[in-house]
Amino acid sequence: MFNLTDAETVKSILTASGFRFSKSLGQNFIINPSICPEMAERCGADNESGVLEIGPGMGVLTQELCLRAKKVAAVELDKRLLPVLDYTLAEFENLTVINGDVMKLDLGELIETQFAGMDVYVCANLPYYITSPVIMKLLESRLRIKSITVMVQKEWAQRILSPVGSREAGAVTVAVNYYAVPEKLFGVSKSSFMPAPKVDSTVIKLTLRDKPPVEVKDEKLFFAVVKAAFGQRRKTAVNSLSAGLNLPRQRIADALSACGFSADVRAETMTMEDFAALTGVLSG
Ligand code: SAM
Repeated sequence: MFNLTDAETVKSILTASGFRFSKSLGQNFIINPSICPEMAERCGADNESGVLEIGPGMGVLTQELCLRAKKVAAVELDKRLLPVLDYTLAEFENLTVINGDVMKLDLGELIETQFAGMDVYVCANLPYYITSPVIMKLLESRLRIKSITVMVQKEWAQRILSPVGSREAGAVTVAVNYYAVPEKLFGVSKSSFMPAPKVDSTVIKLTLRDKPPVEVKDEKLFFAVVKAAFGQRRKTAVNSLSAGLNLPRQRIADALSACGFSADVRAETMTMEDFAALTGVLSG
């Protein structure tokens, strides 16, 4: 097995293939040897399950996943990395590399074709420019996955791990907590990557819930309410909601009052139950 955390090995493979890092594709590869084994171990996959990886890069995490899972499917957008992956991961027969954009692929179909009859886990060092859209796609598509173990920017992780109803929480915090239970696994310093990014990272695990923590009849309206409430963070919820939902201010004030709130309530103090109740009143 190639030692893909050895900077000299990585450089010589990349130089031989003429590869140059693309900043716009979020290409920062892990060179700290302790990170990938721990991610692969803690993602929950075993020799009976399948793992979907997003952005294998040179395959440093992929190797560890292939050693533990029955089957690994890795989606990589950058065509230039395909010959590199062919070379670095040649020994693994339980791997399929798919060239594509994770945001455009039909992941439900991919899971059925790659992982029939297996439990499925997602494990990835995500390209940070699409962290929120990728996570929301994985959650909203209601894929049959058990958990999502991902490395993300430290600040993004902090936002997701803050309790709903606290100052650091945002619309994405509510959305993630609606579908999953988030937990912090460990921190990763910027010096663990080549090239080193400007920010530190955190590995988090999102364990999918069997059912949401609140009952919501109209999910589309629920997420529209949450998004609108946090839309203008310095404003009161009544102003943000009225602007974001394009509804008269008085209608929103009445709905908030029916839920027991005063007109100056702010979105960051509202809980998941509060958003569900407000959605119920507004849909009535
Ligand atoms: N897994 C490797 C590692 O840990 O060293 C590389 C991680 S690097 C942060 C992100 C990877 O995602 C890069 O290989 C990049 O080319 C790939 N990528 C970027 N955008 C993508 C997309 N839309 N779909 C799939 N892969 C993408």
